[in-house]
Amino acid sequence: MAKTSTVSLSAELLDAIFEGARRLYPKETILLLRGKKTKDTIRVDELVVPPLATYGHGFANIPLHMLPMDFSIVGTVHSHPSGNLTPSDVDFNHFFGRILMIVGVPFADERNVAVYNSHGEKLSLQITKG
Ligand SMILES: [Zn+2]
Repeated sequence: MAKTSTVSLSAELLDAIFEGARRLYPKETILLLRGKKTKDTIRVDELVVPPLATYGHGFANIPLHMLPMDFSIVGTVHSHPSGNLTPSDVDFNHFFGRILMIVGVPFADERNVAVYNSHGEKLSLQITKG
């Protein structure tokens, strides 16, 4: 199985993630990422609000067993109000899909986002225009 090494995301989608994270700050936001895997790239196309999400109470509170068996969901994104982009143990215990994206304060540009695979390896992120 080819290893995924790149995640691609439009600038508009990243802005939407940042905006949601800013709105909930200093609480955490979490969203599901819908997209497609092609060869070694995962293209994120859409954000999905998780069912029964308990906003602001941390990643651990999302009932992952309640999530749909939806293979178009490629992963999750959540915010770190601390600004630290390193995933916590809790994050890996709640890994869902193929990728784990983290956005951090100040939610301004691509330096405030990081994406990892389930092995904890950092993947490269490609921000596309339009
Ligand atoms: Zn986290």
